[in-house]
Parts: sequence; structure tokens; C-alpha cells
Amino acid sequence: MKRKVCDYSKYVEHPRYGRGPRFTDFQPRDVPPGYRLTTYISKNKIGGTAIEANLECQTFSPVPVLYYFDLKRDCIECGHPFIFFAEEQKYWYETLGFVLDADCIRCTDCRNRQHGLERQRRRYEELFHNDRRTTDENLEMAECSLTLMEDGAFHRRQTERVRMLLNTFSDNREEIAERRYNDIQRRLLRFENAQSGEPWDATERR
Ligand SMILES: [Zn+2]
Repeated sequence: MKRKVCDYSKYVEHPRYGRGPRFTDFQPRDVPPGYRLTTYISKNKIGGTAIEANLECQTFSPVPVLYYFDLKRDCIECGHPFIFFAEEQKYWYETLGFVLDADCIRCTDCRNRQHGLERQRRRYEELFHNDRRTTDENLEMAECSLTLMEDGAFHRRQTERVRMLLNTFSDNREEIAERRYNDIQRRLLRFENAQSGEPWDATERR
């Protein structure tokens, strides 16, 4: 089968499926009446990557879909191209029960980062509501806060809280906390320097 030449070296690598398309050399064309060749979101599909759907497991749709293809996507977060793999779709629509027009809009890197940030945000909230925080927990709260600011999820005015948290430490910190403290101090300064010169609200995102 002749394949269109495309450079996939810039594509975001998927930890399980890799970077480039997974060619099956299967190119179904004939579709019996009452079925669809492939999903509603199948724009930018890559030829020769079809795999068969299992209609018994597929989420209900008035018109069942017979095949999944690897699809080219651009991540809405970082803009990098990536592939929404046919096998991944099969997993979404047949194992996880997602509807057939659920599309993948973020590359795996951004999905992972988002999950990491979600965890940090939850942890931050937990610590925020704990009014008997230990030294370690105050440091952890400052770190969560910094990570969320560095990523734009927290407003930069949050630097004031980080500073307040750091100020809660007395001079007789243990050595391990001291190093952590200095590290946070450094990150805070780096963040503030990177932000200087911009009007306050320019970076507010959420
Ligand atoms: Zn991305």
C-alpha cells in the first residue's frame, strides 16, 4: 500500500502507542447500510490504520461505527501535533464507555501535566483548610502554590501567601527544612523576576 509521506518526528510521543501511526494496512471502504465507516470525529484520519470496532461493547449510537482510524490532532494546550490512536479510541468507546463523538483534544504530556496540577490543587486546598499545619506542611503548601503559579493556574498575587508561609518559620529550622526553605525562596524570586515588567493582571488565566 502506498503511504502519504508525513514527518511524525515532531509529534508528541504517546507512552504506550508511540509517536507515529500504527499501520494495519487495512483500508475498509464498503459499509453496509445502517452503519458508519468510522466515528463522527474522524477528520484528519490516517489511511491504512483502521482497526475493527466491537459493536457489542461500543457505546450506544443510532448508527454504529465499524472502524477506528488513527487521527491527527493538534493539542489545544501546547499546540503540538499528536495522534489520537485507533486503539485508544477503541478503549475510550468500548471499555470506558465514552460517547462516540468524544474527541481527544490534549496530547498525553498536557493530559499528564493537567492531572499533576489537579493533584497539587487538591493538596493545596487540603492544607489550606488545615489550621494545625506542621513545618513540613507549610513548606509543602508553599511548594504547591509555587507550582500552580508557575503554571499559570494560580494568580501571581499568590506570591504574597508564599512569602507569608515562609515567614512563619523561626530561625531554628532543621537543616533539611532549611534547604527546602531556600529552594522555595529561590523559586519565588525566579518567578517574581520572570513576571516583573508586566502589568499585574496580564497573566490571570483562571
Ligand atoms: Zn499538549
